[in-house]
Amino acid sequence: MQTTAELREGFQRFYEERGHKRVPSHPLVPPADDPSTLFIVAGMQPFKPYFLGLREPPAKCVVSVQKVLRAGGKDTDLEDVGRTDRHCSFFEMLGNFSFGDYFKDRAVELAWEFVTEHMKLDAERLWATVHEGDPALELGEDTVAIEAWQRVGIPTERIVRLGKDNFWQVAETGPCGPCSEIFYDRGEEHGCGRDDCRPGCECDRYMEFYNLVFMQYDLKPDHTLEPLPAENVDTGLGLERGTCVIQDVGSVFDTDGFRLVMDWVAAESGVGYGEDLVATKAHRVLADHGRAMSFLIADGVTPSNEGRGYICRRIIRRAVQHGQRIGLDRVYRLGGVVVEQMGDAYPELREHAEEIERVVRLEEERFRETLARGTKEFDELAGKDAISGDDAFVLAATYGFPIELTVELAEERGQPVDVDRFRELMEGHREVSRAGGEKSDLQRAADFAQSAGFRSEFVGYEKTDVLTELAATDELGDGTFLAKLRESPFYPDGGEQVSDAGELVNERSGAVAVLRAAYRLGDDQALVFEGAGFAAGDRVRAVVPWSVRFPTMANHTATHLLHAALREVLGDHVKQAGSAVRPDKLRFDFSHTQPLSADERERVERIVNEKVFEAIPVRTFVTPIAEARKLGAMMLFGEKYGEEVRVVEIDGFSRELCGGTHVRSTAEIGPFAILTEASVGSGARRIEAVTSGEAWALLHGRSRELEDVRVELEQVRREAKKPKKPEQTVDVDADIVVLDGNNMIVMEIKSMDADTLLALSDRLKQRSAPAAVVLGTREDGTVHLVANFDDGIAKRVSAGDVVKEIAPIVGGGGGGRPNMARAGGKDPEKLPEALDRARELIAAALR
Ligand code: ATP
Ligand code: MG
Repeated sequence: MQTTAELREGFQRFYEERGHKRVPSHPLVPPADDPSTLFIVAGMQPFKPYFLGLREPPAKCVVSVQKVLRAGGKDTDLEDVGRTDRHCSFFEMLGNFSFGDYFKDRAVELAWEFVTEHMKLDAERLWATVHEGDPALELGEDTVAIEAWQRVGIPTERIVRLGKDNFWQVAETGPCGPCSEIFYDRGEEHGCGRDDCRPGCECDRYMEFYNLVFMQYDLKPDHTLEPLPAENVDTGLGLERGTCVIQDVGSVFDTDGFRLVMDWVAAESGVGYGEDLVATKAHRVLADHGRAMSFLIADGVTPSNEGRGYICRRIIRRAVQHGQRIGLDRVYRLGGVVVEQMGDAYPELREHAEEIERVVRLEEERFRETLARGTKEFDELAGKDAISGDDAFVLAATYGFPIELTVELAEERGQPVDVDRFRELMEGHREVSRAGGEKSDLQRAADFAQSAGFRSEFVGYEKTDVLTELAATDELGDGTFLAKLRESPFYPDGGEQVSDAGELVNERSGAVAVLRAAYRLGDDQALVFEGAGFAAGDRVRAVVPWSVRFPTMANHTATHLLHAALREVLGDHVKQAGSAVRPDKLRFDFSHTQPLSADERERVERIVNEKVFEAIPVRTFVTPIAEARKLGAMMLFGEKYGEEVRVVEIDGFSRELCGGTHVRSTAEIGPFAILTEASVGSGARRIEAVTSGEAWALLHGRSRELEDVRVELEQVRREAKKPKKPEQTVDVDADIVVLDGNNMIVMEIKSMDADTLLALSDRLKQRSAPAAVVLGTREDGTVHLVANFDDGIAKRVSAGDVVKEIAPIVGGGGGGRPNMARAGGKDPEKLPEALDRARELIAAALR
């Protein structure tokens, strides 16, 4: 059985014997003049200048084994590592290339000979994919490739036409072309079992291992394809996948190329490969990432917070993380094993062996300190339905726990993560650090609240307008100031319901300040106002406008109804994954893998509205958490509940722990309407909806549109019922003018609609071929013009040009192609003049 080393060498020798020059691998870092990717992601990449004709290639045909890394940027496969049988981040890509030498036929013949005779794969198990064509590019299916595969002996039923995946391009414009891939059928036991499982399916049954790219076009900015001056071939055969199919093993990690590394992981951790899912994944990730980090460091990339360095850091940290899950705590020693496994083929590993160990060790030690705390924190979130953006943020910002890990680990235990909210917070965080290490706004508000030395009492559940004391202030500059009220009606952003809007009025002077932000600090709060003329100790009126608070409450209560309705319609697996309650609309994210059907959506909407019409009282009460649990109240994501919790109860329908503001009866919500329903990635959906005034406006707008459509439909129906005018018979013979063997027919037709006029011009053109036909007609005070020319005539005078010139005479405009053009006008009186001008133009051209 062939080994990894034998396949690597055998490939190069095979192509060398067939006229290819051996070229060494480029380092993982792309050449300086190629900023398109962080790392080399394909064997062809170092050869780009040859394909683009910018530099002379070392030979017309070359063969290489290129180190590639698909991690970071749009080419990343990092998250797939461990999950599938076939993805690595670092891998070796074998490739044969032709720069204007051989093309499709030969490339297919060579590849076929290699896989069947050198790799000795069972031809019965081989499939090929080809490009199915693209109407947008006026490109048909790749018949040349199809025939080439048929010729070497693949039966038609094992040649699969695929779309996008089988068209390759460097960028939006430039060299591109169809590609054709070879797949190996590993057998049903590796598959998803679906009826339509074929090459191209995401599962692990059909393994793509050899891709032939036929670079033959230049994609122009106007989306047309022009043939390239030279036709090129660029191929990639993944060494790990090739070995996997030759050796007929379960995954790339079971090949001899990973043997030492995999054995070491098992011995070092004491956990067998394949013991359970966590172990399987951990072993694979460690084996892959061990290689990736070693090669990165050997090629000069070390951990940092940016660009390549960040990817290097992420790879080491991910390895450490997975190591920890199987009790392996000296990941840095992996480097030595990788050197042993691959040092013969890649001497740079031996050369940098010490450095690899030192760099990984340093990064690992730094990471472990924070990781221990982060993992504990992460594990504490295990009981929740979902992980909130705020929790993910704390994990990342405080514990250095990368978001990708949070998502990955949370996914394994079925928890969705509010990544949107996380990114929002991260963005704010970055802005603060960019501003030069200043304190974040939140931090500043917290410090201020602490030094004020008392707690503001939130009275917003009962009141939206209070007379109170402005007990502490702190100028922020730029016209804003921090403030603490004794009693506050302002609801502070709780990650779910947005902060209230509102204002402060100075009882003494009448000065007004507008609320800019409300920070939640545990059960305390700090506010930011914009305005002047306020000092600590002032008596103030604090007001939340009812026009803001009321719709917010309606939306919040509606969110609870929606949550319960979704569970009723879709099932109990529906869990809240995030939400945003605002005055103008509400957003609700929940775990569910499929789009809602029209019927499901309608049922959800109907249930919510029914609950509104039932005018159910909404009660809130505070109770010990054990009691709330007993009542079956839904515990929401992200909240750290204290001993006492607040329950919002919509009698007999919904019970949730919630600190938000709510209406007193569901009737106050008014109509409820879903705006959109869409995916927000990894098993979660998002509904946006409106209530009360916004919902009325939406529904009213919809019924207006419907009314318009109904009126239009009526008109169309009436038109359709009208008896059709008898078809006009036109006597044209008298109007035909013969010019240089061509017939010119230019005439006015009695009232006719534009489409019938066009049809008539077609008939005349055919009957009197070769003919140039120009017809004009007046209909209800307007003019229609059509010019319809025989193709031969169109080469001498363009119908488009004629129409462009005569349309302005009748007060209109229009144009078209050389053989057909149409226009309208508003000046029927001038039609004869326009037709005369057409006669002149055609006669001048044809005479
Ligand atoms: P897939 O769809 O399976 O991810 P791909 O379409 O991304 O593959 P190509 O970009 O065509 O693959 O790369 C050429 C060859 O490189 C593939 O045929 C395969 O043998 C190998 N290859 C690609 N990605 C990986 C990977 N993540 N790990 C190992 N080998 C890979
Ligand atoms: Mg891929």
